[in-house]
Amino acid sequence: MIYFDSNATSAIDPQVLDAMLPFFRERYANPSSSYGAGREVKSAVALARGQVAELLNAQPGEIIFTSCGTESNNSAIESARRICWPQRKRLITAAAEHSAVLEPARRWEAEGGVVTRLGSDAQGQISLAELEQALAVGDAALVSIMWANNETGVLAQLPEITQLAHAAGALVHTDAVQAVGKLPVDVQRVPVDYLSLSGHKFHAPKGVGALYASSRVRFIPSLLGGGQESGRRSGTENVPYLVALGVAAQLMQQHLANGTEERVRGLRDEFEQRLLSAWPSAVVNGHPTQRLPTTCSITFPGLVAAEMLLLLDERGLCCSAGSACHSASVHPSHVLEAMGLSAGHAASTLRFSFSRFNTQAEVDAAVPLVLGVAEKLLALKGDAGSCVESHL
Ligand code: PLP
Repeated sequence: MIYFDSNATSAIDPQVLDAMLPFFRERYANPSSSYGAGREVKSAVALARGQVAELLNAQPGEIIFTSCGTESNNSAIESARRICWPQRKRLITAAAEHSAVLEPARRWEAEGGVVTRLGSDAQGQISLAELEQALAVGDAALVSIMWANNETGVLAQLPEITQLAHAAGALVHTDAVQAVGKLPVDVQRVPVDYLSLSGHKFHAPKGVGALYASSRVRFIPSLLGGGQESGRRSGTENVPYLVALGVAAQLMQQHLANGTEERVRGLRDEFEQRLLSAWPSAVVNGHPTQRLPTTCSITFPGLVAAEMLLLLDERGLCCSAGSACHSASVHPSHVLEAMGLSAGHAASTLRFSFSRFNTQAEVDAAVPLVLGVAEKLLALKGDAGSCVESHL
């Protein structure tokens, strides 16, 4: 299997797995217990908190462990609502956000708030002028813009967005689930108030995440109970997974320092270039430079991504489509649609996403697989004509 779908979820690093296993076996005490075994587990949680904080250049006390990126996003937005309503009731976000922000935004609206959804330009970024306009109304509680888009990898202009939002008195949240570990994310350099991350996007298991909540601002918890996480997220800690998250963060930091980011970028760039030169009508989506080094969103006009996916799956290559296909109807990706792609082009788009576990040999094997599948579908289209077009 060639796994080019690390934006969906990533392989667990064997070192991460080794680090967490003792916490299922002998080190199972509750970190809140006052005896030695509990204290030992408590210190493992503290170590993990420090490791995550270090990856973000934050203080350990600013890290709240959660169950996933979705929970982090929801709790940041809910905290802002509780802090700012009723004086400020506007949430400014973007049309191309992940559903873990778009759905809380819908609830914000349903409960009487106002939501501004900024569009994307053709390269996948928001317009700062549009943001300024929305902020000028003077009622913004929160600006929530993702650091990196999960479908295209496009990076937002977070330093400028943060500065504009703070100048207008709004809080700033960023869904950095796809960015953390893949490129430097430094909350001193980009002083957002809340930042979400998720372990399974950087080689920790699924079901663990964190919310950075700056010590400069208040955080009002969604989960109340036993007062864990300094009262900010109650519930007995999922210790093995927190340990895993900490080790995964530490490994990511080491890899960022030793040039892994550039190696992965090199693989992605070569993969893209080889596809583009062999298939001249193909188009890479997103900003040419402000893009994650791991992500390739590529449109093969006239071909159907869902059909390519099936054939690639048969040949052992895992990737995903820029659009989801349900029972014969194609729902174009809201991200690509926001960038102005037609429904047809969106339905012809594949996403390949790389990680440090990918190799040159995999790129060498994958390029002819993708081209072979594209040629086969083009030939079928020529023969049978309608079967492909009927999906567009
Ligand atoms: N935000 C983004 C940008 C994502 O890509 C994802 C996962 O696909 C999430 C949030 C949700 O994270 P989790 O799966 O940990 O809930």
